[in-house]
Amino acid sequence: MADRTIVREIEAKTLATRVPTSDDSFWYRTDFSINVYRGCQHRCIYCDSRSACYGIDRFDEEVLVKRNAVELLEEELARKRKKGVIGTGSMSDPYMPLERSLGMTRRCLDVIYRYGFGVHVHTKSDLVVRDAELLGKIHRVNGHAVVAMTVTTTDDELAAKLEPRAPVPSQRFAALRSLASAGVETWVTLMPVLPFIEDSEEEILQIVRASSDAGVHGILPFLGVTMRNRQRAYFYAQLDRMFPGVRLQYARAFGECYVCKVPEHDRLLAALRSACHDAGMKTNPARPPGPDAGGVQLPLL
Ligand code: SF4
Repeated sequence: MADRTIVREIEAKTLATRVPTSDDSFWYRTDFSINVYRGCQHRCIYCDSRSACYGIDRFDEEVLVKRNAVELLEEELARKRKKGVIGTGSMSDPYMPLERSLGMTRRCLDVIYRYGFGVHVHTKSDLVVRDAELLGKIHRVNGHAVVAMTVTTTDDELAAKLEPRAPVPSQRFAALRSLASAGVETWVTLMPVLPFIEDSEEEILQIVRASSDAGVHGILPFLGVTMRNRQRAYFYAQLDRMFPGVRLQYARAFGECYVCKVPEHDRLLAALRSACHDAGMKTNPARPPGPDAGGVQLPLL
């Protein structure tokens, strides 16, 4: 499938937004969030960023590049009196194919390093390995560099249907191994787990084994998927195209629900937690020591 993404440059007014504090969030803790791109080339069929509430009308046709992102980040970090952790990857993948030639994420990492901040990268791409050395340096010197790789299945063929332009899981696990060797803390974000497609115990435990083999610190799980306006319609159309009959199962099980957990959620989560515990991996990303913005925490993807 040819990539017909339209790439457009825009001028951004701000880049780093403060992440609100939330003590009950299960999510990774960061202090600020940045996105140098708007839109994403990976085209995951379940992507929440397609939801109408975000107002990204041409999500599947266009990627906007914030051409002044690096300069903006430098100005903003220079003004901050307290250090903190910068998260990236919440609304678009910072290592989508465009990044290979543009290097915007790489240049932002360099700014983050020079200003003494920590970083939390969320991605599905092995392109992140290109920056392993710099990430390792941020971890050693600034105290916090985490790469969280999203994995929803170990099955490369299935992933090619669900996440058609992202590197396949075997490439992502290889990247995790390289990052761990470079001294970067790595996690697997296990979400979504698509009901009736990815929710077998065998598959979930296979992800735990592959993560353990790749030397990751932990797995952050959400066994289910979220659905809301516009994104649900796109997702259902893709189910009809590739998994005939499954949309009907969704409609019967979830109706108009936003949070759609897999059947047998509690049993599967217990099995996953137990397997992670046995393998010495965490399932809760408590924040390690490092740059601190003074009590501000928690982002959300
Ligand atoms: S990589 Fe993330 S942001 Fe990009 S399409 Fe997939 S889910 Fe959406």
